[in-house]
Parts: sequence; structure tokens; C-alpha cells
Amino acid sequence: MFEKLTRFFSADIGIDLGTANTLVYVKGRGIVLREPSVVAIQADSKKILAIGEEAKQMLGKTPGNIVAIRPMKSGVIADFDITEAMISYFIKKVHRQGFLSRFIKPRVVVAVPSDITEVEKHAVEEAAENAGAKDPVLLEEPMAAAIGVGLPVSEPAGSMIVDIGGGTCEVAIISLAGIVHKRSAREAAGDAMDDSIELYMRRVYNLLIGPRTSENIKKEIGSAFPVGEESTMEVKGRDIVSGLPKTVTITSEEIRDALQGPVSKIVDAVRETLGDCAPELAADLVDRGIVLSGGSSMLRGLDKLLSAQTGLPVTLADDPLSAVAEGTGVVVSEYDTLARNRK
Ligand code: ADP
Ligand code: MG
Repeated sequence: MFEKLTRFFSADIGIDLGTANTLVYVKGRGIVLREPSVVAIQADSKKILAIGEEAKQMLGKTPGNIVAIRPMKSGVIADFDITEAMISYFIKKVHRQGFLSRFIKPRVVVAVPSDITEVEKHAVEEAAENAGAKDPVLLEEPMAAAIGVGLPVSEPAGSMIVDIGGGTCEVAIISLAGIVHKRSAREAAGDAMDDSIELYMRRVYNLLIGPRTSENIKKEIGSAFPVGEESTMEVKGRDIVSGLPKTVTITSEEIRDALQGPVSKIVDAVRETLGDCAPELAADLVDRGIVLSGGSSMLRGLDKLLSAQTGLPVTLADDPLSAVAEGTGVVVSEYDTLARNRK
């Protein structure tokens, strides 16, 4: 009876602690928060000034003594205290206000990159506990994504998910509710694409651009494979030589070339994972194909390229940015079973 009551008053929460974006799912309400995984701190005192959307606004535009950091940037926890502050901020922001919620802790499922170390796992668990979570459960990102897009993960048949976010590209083959084969590739996701564009603009046009501009170029005219009409875009930045503001016009073909490095690393990760796969599972994939999720899976033509390079059907999740959070939401609803099975 008491348990039923507490369950009624506590909000059970699923968190997608992404390298670029954090999403929070609240049981019964769905995804209630999407904010950048960014924390702005004062450089000298390490004092936290802003978290989330507000902190992202400061990225690249910060005055000398303020730095905006992305604590999960390469899929690992760079700074424990800052990660904890971020998790705590997001949990508090969605946790039901009011008298009772002060006493009742939410149960929390956190999706984390599949290659984080035991030490990092403990760090996330501790951070979630300190932030007020009760018995946090960690879920590997690709599993969360696969559940989120509705793949039949518990069936005795292979399913393949490729989740491409900001910092990592996670490839997994799942069968019988377990990850059978996986790869986690760095330098093969959104940040690496942005870096490649930045480098290209500097090398070819002597133009310095910031991370926001390169991300915009990628979203507007970036592609992995020729699809539809080619296009152009005007880009503003600062000339390296003269130091003055300058505008250049670039084409989608050039940006496709500029993106080749990270894009080919995604293809390699997928092909290598397929190469590890047992024949029966491989046979399942011929019929079921590959599902893509994560923000960077929306790069134009990436699905076509992967299909051409693997010979398998490739489909893009309906809402690539929400897949992992939706998956944590499904698991949150089955929390009791999970907690019971935990060591
Ligand atoms: P993470 O899980 O690491 O937080 P997300 O799944 O939220 O990452 O995806 C964020 C990444 O997706 C960013 O690098 C962003 O630039 C990229 N992205 C978002 N929309 C697009 C798009 N339309 N085309 C290409 N990349 C995109
Ligand atoms: Mg993600």
C-alpha cells in the first residue's frame, strides 16, 4: 500500500545523457525536457553559471573568464562534479514540485555510452544518487535506442541499431535482450563532422568559422551521398590573413567531400560489426536491415550510403533525436522487474 502511494507521488524518470543533448522522460508524461548537455563555468573559481540551453548560448561567445563545457563530450565523463551538477539540475527541473516530492525520491534509468568504464558507470550512478535518484539503473545507449525505436530486442533474432550522436557512433547487434556485438566509434559522429567542416573552410578559404557555423553548414547542405539537388550556401567568418570578416559561397559537393573522414568511419564501424556477426544473425539482418537513430543519422543520404555499402536495407528512426529517451521511458515502466534482476 505504502509502495503504491509513493509510486503515485514520485515521478519515475528516464534520462538520455547524451554528449550533445540531454533528454528527460517522465513516466506518464513522456519526454518533458530537451536541453544541450552544456555547463558554463567561471574559469578561475569553477563556479557554475548556467546549465543547458542557457549555457549553450554562451558556447564560443564567452568572455575570457567563462568557459562553456560539455561534460559528456566524447562519451566519457570528463569532470565528475560538473556532470553531477548537470544531472541534478535536469532531475530537479522535472521532478514534481510539492510537499510530498521532497520526501519521495524518483527512480531513475540513465542511458550511457556502451563503452564507458566501470569507474565512469559508478560516477554516473553516484551523480544520479546525489541528485536525489533512488537506485539508479544504467542502460546501454544502443539498447535504449533499439527499445525506443520499437525493435523486437527480446526475440531470438538479430536486430541492428546504429545510434549516431554528437560524440560517438554506437553500433550494436541485439538478440534475446542482450547486445551480441558492438562497436563504439569516436571521431565518427556529429562533432567530428563539424570539426571537418571547420578545418576545410580554414584550409581552402583561409576562413575561420566557429562551431555553431560549421554545425549549421552541416545541417543545411551537408550530405553523405548525393541525394536530390545540390545546393550552395553563403558562409560568414573571419579571414585568417587579413583578420577581417569575410563571406564565401560553398557548395554541397565540397561539404560532402569535407565530411568524408567521419562518414567513412561510420561505414567502417558498421561493416566491422557485421563482420563479427555469426551467420544466423547475419541472415536475420538481411531481412530486417539496419535502423539508424541519433541526431547525426539525419545527415542527408547517410541511410543510402550505408545501404549501398552493406547491401542491407537501412531505415531512419521516425524521431532520431528521441529514440534513446523513449527507450529509457519504456524501461522506466518496467523498472520493478529490472531492479529485482540486478546483482
Ligand atoms: P547525443 O546523443 O550525443 O547527445 P544527439 O542524438 O542529440 O547526440 O545528436 C546531436 C548531433 O546531431 C549533433 O552533432 C547535431 O549537429 C547533429 N544533427 C542534428 N540534426 C542534424 C541534421 N539534420 N543533419 C545532420 N546532423 C544533425
Ligand atoms: Mg544519444
